[in-house]
Amino acid sequence: MLSPGAVIGIVGGGQLGRMSAMAAARLGYLVHIYDPEPNGPAAQVSAYSTVADYTNHAALRQFAEAVDVVTFEFENVPAEGLDLLASLKPVRPGPDVLRISQDRVLEKTFLNRIGVPTAPWAPVEDAAGLAAALGQLGLPSVLKTTRLGYDGKGQAMLRTSADAEPAFARLAPKPLILEGFVDFACEISVIVARGVDGTLVSFDPVENRHKNHILDLTLAPAPLPLETLAEATRLARLVAENLQLIGLLALEMFVTSDGRLLANEIAPRPHNSGHWTLDACPASQFELHIRSIAGLPLPPATRHSDAAMKNLVGPEDMATWNAILATPGLIPHHYGKSEARPGRKMGHYNRLFPKGGLPGEFGISEALMLG
Ligand code: AMP
Repeated sequence: MLSPGAVIGIVGGGQLGRMSAMAAARLGYLVHIYDPEPNGPAAQVSAYSTVADYTNHAALRQFAEAVDVVTFEFENVPAEGLDLLASLKPVRPGPDVLRISQDRVLEKTFLNRIGVPTAPWAPVEDAAGLAAALGQLGLPSVLKTTRLGYDGKGQAMLRTSADAEPAFARLAPKPLILEGFVDFACEISVIVARGVDGTLVSFDPVENRHKNHILDLTLAPAPLPLETLAEATRLARLVAENLQLIGLLALEMFVTSDGRLLANEIAPRPHNSGHWTLDACPASQFELHIRSIAGLPLPPATRHSDAAMKNLVGPEDMATWNAILATPGLIPHHYGKSEARPGRKMGHYNRLFPKGGLPGEFGISEALMLG
């Protein structure tokens, strides 16, 4: 159990690191950020920072020596770097968890092995492999890079057989995976924390709505039947347990129109779909992340309110910032990024509702001032 004054090392310097660092500060810890970019969102609110590339072994070594525990807000650190960090200090979640989440083939293999359903999938190594995978899965389907994809980057929708060749040409020679297209009713996620002593706590499942492949809205709790919510929670806890996780993860899932759950992705870190917990829960996802890696007791992940979270992406959304500040009931969170490039996550705001009082479609747009 880390005492106040201990130093928590966070690899990655974006908004997830920023909000984790603020939670760590509240518990009396100092934070050291490792980020290739200087003065990013996390470094702005942390005691120490190292500015170096993720492949710089000398810098990684020095960083590990300067901290008491290492965690991540960015999981695509090369494997050798992870092993180096883990040889010097406790890395939580551990390198094995990160390796699985970095690679869609390893991830889906793991999920299916422990009995968590996914879309049907097949690895694609070359053009002949794509033809074989298409023969197996049919159309429509989604071709993705196995690594380093996010927010819809590194993937292509295949609607007709004519889409296959250009998609393959664009994404190869990276290792690829073909997934059957899921005609989902909605997308949900569950955030779970697991402590050093194996204690598991999970937030209620939430619904996530995307715009241009980027998360736009989160509704907490997801407006779904109780059995579906219970099953989503069971699957996320099963994943955390089987990974022997120490830390926090989000399991993203599709809900099909007949109510089945298909896991899409494991994110072994705080997640954009958990930002509502900052205002609607006594302990947010960031606090539970820090508590779990620091060996502190984990309180239950309870919610005192229903909530909706609206992401602020790019210059268009940031043009509404002053209006958000002037609107009672909207709780603003700014990430401290100087330049609002298109597609860049700049901040978010939350709105709380009494438990059971999350409005329906029309009311949500009204409550969040959505045009
Ligand atoms: P991912 O990069 O895997 O998180 O995918 C980004 C988004 O693309 C998801 O949130 C879905 O909206 C969509 N998507 C990804 N995979 C599939 C699939 N197999 N079927 C339907 N939609 C998908």
